[in-house]
Amino acid sequence: MLTTMNRRAFMATGSAALLSGCATTVSRRSPGSACTPLAPVKVEHNRIIRSVAGLRPYRASGFVVRREDLGGKALVHNYGHGGAGITLSWGSSRLATRLGLQGHSGPVAVIGAGVMGLTTARLAQEAGYQVTIYTAALPPDTTSNIAGGQISPFGHFSERAVTPEWRRQFLAAMDYSWSRFQIMVGDEYGIRWLPTYNQTDGGGPDPTNPLEKYHPGGRMLTRGEHPFDLDDIGIYNTMYVETGRFLRQMVRDIETAGGRIQLRSFANPADIASLPENLVFNCTGLGSRELFGDEELIPIRGQLAILLPQPEVRYAFTGEDGYMFPRPDGILLGGTFERNMWSTVPEPGAIAGIVDSHRRLFSGLRCEA
Ligand SMILES: Cc1cc2nc3c(=O)[nH]c(=O)nc-3n(C[C@H](O)[C@H](O)[C@H](O)COP(=O)(O)OP(=O)(O)OC[C@H]3O[C@@H](n4cnc5c(N)ncnc54)[C@H](O)[C@@H]3O)c2cc1C
Repeated sequence: MLTTMNRRAFMATGSAALLSGCATTVSRRSPGSACTPLAPVKVEHNRIIRSVAGLRPYRASGFVVRREDLGGKALVHNYGHGGAGITLSWGSSRLATRLGLQGHSGPVAVIGAGVMGLTTARLAQEAGYQVTIYTAALPPDTTSNIAGGQISPFGHFSERAVTPEWRRQFLAAMDYSWSRFQIMVGDEYGIRWLPTYNQTDGGGPDPTNPLEKYHPGGRMLTRGEHPFDLDDIGIYNTMYVETGRFLRQMVRDIETAGGRIQLRSFANPADIASLPENLVFNCTGLGSRELFGDEELIPIRGQLAILLPQPEVRYAFTGEDGYMFPRPDGILLGGTFERNMWSTVPEPGAIAGIVDSHRRLFSGLRCEA
């Protein structure tokens, strides 16, 4: 089934500190209007530079960080992060490395070179270990490269299926990721803060939600405070990762620190047991379904249309009909959430639908920068 979904999950209270970033642009608004002017996204089919489809590795009961024995080796799983793998990467990998490295000596193997494999490898290196990554594919040919890169813990579990213990893991992972990405903000890793306009379901901030702090400066806006021709618009701030640049830089960091990378595909756990390292991290994302027979792990396909870059667009939008993330490498328009769909070939009809709904949204801006 083809559905679009609002990436919004919650709002936070507080000041709209970064909102002023948009309001500093020259205004063409009519006198007396209180509308915050924004540069419109130029949404035309002939501005599409590429379209992609990627498979989010989703488990209703949440991502797996667990240690087990594999023929005398320690095997630590770190997979199944759904639509939040970039967001949770540093934190989940920190949980995994803590489970694996304690009391370990000798070299370490990491399977997979998506965001989980690369962050796991870096953390092991930072702890002083020699690391070899074994992987079927490297960036740019991973799901992680397709991700929009919003830092927001969205779309990675079902409320009904998770345990309190898993919830604690999730919050610990989120906490570390949140601070780790902040110290990497800048051009080197392609990470920046942006205000995000967010079409809500009408509900305002919920201060009892422990996740609210990850949307700082969040509040509901009055109709006069935003240019969208929509009711129930809120704003919050978060970081956005230009995933291609980030992953490329991570590979460089790993190699600079003496890490080795080998192209190799594993068919089953016995294959992994033949590795020389006694500690192995499994960061194979959706590949874990076949490799370890985890049938709860399913793809949630996402399709994106990418338009010509527009450096003047310095805000993101998430809403009922999808999302817009502006990045230096293009304006990303998303996104579909298609359960159990395995094809990574974008469908022209879905891409046209994404483009059309965003064209309606941005052609209806009530005031422009
Ligand atoms: C359209 C879309 C938008 C998204 N947007 C966001 C977003 O805005 N924010 C966010 O936080 N997340 C987002 N995500 C989710 C995010 O992309 C994933 O959660 C994340 O990339 C998973 O990372 P990973 O390292 O586990 O898997 P992958 O990136 O798939 O990496 C797995 C690695 O394991 C290797 N591998 C697999 N099987 C084997 C095997 N048998 N042998 C050897 N190697 C193997 C692969 O070659 C690859 O190198 C999005 C995803 C999609 C599809």
